[in-house]
Amino acid sequence: MIAAYQGVDGAYSQLVVHHFLQSRGVDATTSGLPTYREVAASVAALRADAGVIPIENAIAGTVREGYELVAEFGLAPVAEVLWRTDHRLLGVEGAALADVREVLAHPLTIAECSRFLSSLPQARAIPCEDTGVAAREVARSGNPAIAALASPEAARIYGLAELAENCGDHPNTFSRFLIVRAPHARIDGAQKAQRKTSIIFSLSDAPGTLARCLSAFADRDINVSKIESKARLGHGAEHVFYLDFEGDVSQPDVAEALAAIGRASVTLTVLGSYDAHIGAPIGSNGVALRRAARITTGTWQPQPLPQAGNAALPRVSRPARPEGSSLRIGGVQIGDGQFVIVAGPCSVESREQVLQTAQAVQERGAVMLRGGAFKPRTSPYAFQGLGWEGVDLLAEAGRATGMPTVSEVMTIDQVERMARQIDVLQIGARNMQNFDLLKAVGRAGKPVLLKRGLSATLDELLAAAEYILAEGNPNVILCERGIRTFENATRNTLDLSAVPVLRERSHLPVLVDPSHGVGVRRWIRPLCRAAKAVGAHGILVEVHPNPPEAKSDKEQALTFDDFAEIVADLDRIPLEAAAEVHA
Ligand code: PEP
Ligand code: MN
Repeated sequence: MIAAYQGVDGAYSQLVVHHFLQSRGVDATTSGLPTYREVAASVAALRADAGVIPIENAIAGTVREGYELVAEFGLAPVAEVLWRTDHRLLGVEGAALADVREVLAHPLTIAECSRFLSSLPQARAIPCEDTGVAAREVARSGNPAIAALASPEAARIYGLAELAENCGDHPNTFSRFLIVRAPHARIDGAQKAQRKTSIIFSLSDAPGTLARCLSAFADRDINVSKIESKARLGHGAEHVFYLDFEGDVSQPDVAEALAAIGRASVTLTVLGSYDAHIGAPIGSNGVALRRAARITTGTWQPQPLPQAGNAALPRVSRPARPEGSSLRIGGVQIGDGQFVIVAGPCSVESREQVLQTAQAVQERGAVMLRGGAFKPRTSPYAFQGLGWEGVDLLAEAGRATGMPTVSEVMTIDQVERMARQIDVLQIGARNMQNFDLLKAVGRAGKPVLLKRGLSATLDELLAAAEYILAEGNPNVILCERGIRTFENATRNTLDLSAVPVLRERSHLPVLVDPSHGVGVRRWIRPLCRAAKAVGAHGILVEVHPNPPEAKSDKEQALTFDDFAEIVADLDRIPLEAAAEVHA
């Protein structure tokens, strides 16, 4: 696997990510990128399996850029690492401390070594982008008057001599990093028992707003381990807070505290929960680092498409956006180059059921949470869903996990309220041609997941999508969920040929729902694999903590273990393989 860090060989963040992956028994090569933004982008785009982002420095405090990048790219934190920086003065072979005139170092390192630097009055400190660059430049210069403040690993990598050790002002200076992955990527190794969660929230400038947030933690005996604030630029007197606390979003008390903060704040972003660093900061492990020879890219360049377009459907047809549509929903990107996994129960049944399922599917690789609250049931005597109570519970589970949510709207009068609480409005198969409902969701300002009708042709599906786009809403995801045929061995016939056809005719992303497609638990897994291989932009599946007890669609409900196996299968099917189908 490939782990991305900022800098060149010998940078502290390279040592951190290398050490972490080694401690998890993961064989990784590290790849240095010029900026942390590029690290975040390459992890989000699956060009790297993991990345390392700094979030705090013992001297300089919160690294806000780190928090912001994790939020902006919707990355999933895996663990925090406290790294004790072991600064040494490195020079070329034969150099002497008294001859040093210039010391190259990262600006934070300069701050951390101020006392040592003032003991070298003849030398000037020169800031440099990272520790690895500092050491590399000294080696390249071959000049005994130039030295670098860097780690012993950097000395080994660049063949430099140590002119002084213990250069830090404080022996326990450390930086805190987050190891991150894409939400649906995986990093092996057991999750630790002690978890931490990071959030960013903003508050209006009014008495008691911060106290309300902090008492949400205090009242539940949740330990806040760090909080720092800054002005929220462009928003008057509002402030942004960067806060870490002990606990995991899956705990009910944590979910309640987050819900309370959600109510008290102007904005709230839950970065996610991760393994807490236990004990003293770790330092260099002295193990030789391996460099990535090459980063394999997971992105696919769209191919030119032959279809001239359908003049009757000008907005959904491919020529309207030859490059393909890409939707951003919370931290999730849907479209070419991405494969998303949407999972959750058929119906929201209880708070416990939906929170437990949300946490379980997220841990196993889901990036978006589904759950029906208004259920279109064939029989009027079957469970009809929890209605608005179900919507509240699904929204709570979305907040607790940070996953965007998707739920079905059945009537026009549900649209406005649903759009306030839920991130994606689902139009069910039975409503695909409810044209007034399509117009209403077209005006709701929220992305729409449009399911193919039970006996709708692809042209009819695209025409239904056109209704939504025609109202000014470009954010539509098409979903193949099986159609009625003479075959009755499966609940429906999952029409996977729809995927290449829809991708050719339309620029809209296409998801496949094998759960409703086959309706039988054990056949869902192979069809998920097929969906990715045929070029779908993702899957939508139903998962339940205890399928035999599910109040709807129990025959097709996946267990958490089934779901984990599906995600593992999908991980083995490269996105490039899916793209080749269209080449
Ligand atoms: C569902 O997603 O739970 C659902 C009812 O799907 P469909 O409309 O495809 O039957
Ligand atoms: Mn269902």
